[in-house]
Amino acid sequence: MSSPVWHPFTQHGLNEPIPEVARTEGAAIHTADGRRVIDAISSWWVITHGHSHPRLQAAIRKASERFDQIIFAGWTHEPAETLACGLIDITPEPLQHVFYSDSGSTAVEVALKMALGFWTNIGQPRHRIVVMQHSYHGDTIGTMSVGQRGVFNQAYAPLLFDVATVPFPTAGAERASVDALDAFCRQEPKPAAFIVEPLILGAGGMLIYSAETLRALADVCARHGVLFIADEVMTGWGRTGTLLACEQAGVSPDILCLSKGLTGGALPLAATLATAPIFEAHRSTDRAKMFFHSSSYTANPIACAVAAENLSIWREEPVLDRVAALGQAQQAHLDRLSAHPALSNIRRLGTIAAVDFEGARGGYLSGLGPWLLKFFRERDLLIRPLGDTVYVMPPYCIDDADLSRVWAAIEEAAEVVHAGI
Ligand SMILES: *Cc1c(COP(=O)(O)O)cnc(C)c1O
Repeated sequence: MSSPVWHPFTQHGLNEPIPEVARTEGAAIHTADGRRVIDAISSWWVITHGHSHPRLQAAIRKASERFDQIIFAGWTHEPAETLACGLIDITPEPLQHVFYSDSGSTAVEVALKMALGFWTNIGQPRHRIVVMQHSYHGDTIGTMSVGQRGVFNQAYAPLLFDVATVPFPTAGAERASVDALDAFCRQEPKPAAFIVEPLILGAGGMLIYSAETLRALADVCARHGVLFIADEVMTGWGRTGTLLACEQAGVSPDILCLSKGLTGGALPLAATLATAPIFEAHRSTDRAKMFFHSSSYTANPIACAVAAENLSIWREEPVLDRVAALGQAQQAHLDRLSAHPALSNIRRLGTIAAVDFEGARGGYLSGLGPWLLKFFRERDLLIRPLGDTVYVMPPYCIDDADLSRVWAAIEEAAEVVHAGI
């Protein structure tokens, strides 16, 4: 019997096994055939505290007794109000308004539309977006347009809009990136906005750059009056060691995109935060200036309630201590592997650790990726390499035994690669 389900980022023609999940708990996924798989990538970066977190599950049960979906155009509800106030409290002071949607991609689409709406509504239309090389902002047409072009989006390329791209600020060449942004900001017509993943590019290969560079990029935008959009869909909620990555650079974006860990990974929800000037540019007695965006499930009350409970967890529990401890544990494993001849570019930012496998031909479809995926799958580990880059981004509750199993398997894979497969 073949399944009618068409899976994302899955080549069905390869007939790779698609395990069925029976339940999840903590750092583990339990399969229907009785295996306990360690989720070393937080189910694609969404699970922060751990799977099936008791407080989050309880919040879902409680909210679902009162609410289902409610239209949000011209209506409101307590979970959305509570969450918005909570988000304003924990983000930089200039961010004053919260717009809800339902995924990271929609949070970014909303950010781009807010930026263009701002310029149009103040009577100085601007349309150009500046992006960073190797960026990823989502899989919709708009978010693919501001992301790295490649095998992922080749078929759709004619539909993608043009952007200006600054080079990735590799160590030692940061100036080139900052100068390129400065040059784009001087060009007429001026860019509407610069969008960037702060401190680490996720899907682009866990590429890390310095807080000083992020700060310099934000300063260029501020100097030229170009809106600075921080896509913290992956970096938010402690992954990089702080609640938001922007904090480490002392940067306050004009627009901030949040999703993934916003609900601790329990339900889909996104928020795009904006400064007062951006909101005010849309506020008018002129109906043509309102923000023309909505999705059916905007501000789902149950998702908002679980996100509000996530904020309570952050307030009441020592989450940043757990994040720091996980970072230290990751570093100890990296240190042990630092001289391994099969591994290079050993790096870490907060809880995220990554290594590149040598002999790598590079790129997402490189030879080693599928072999590594299978290698880890056979050891009951959920690790999805990005090409030849293997990264570990676990839920914060992972214990030493599970984390050691993950790194032992990575070391074993490195041994096999080094011996020549
Ligand atoms: C995952 C991701 C997105 C897209 O989020 P979806 O919820 O998958 O649409 C956007 N930006 C960044 C930086 C991401 O990591």
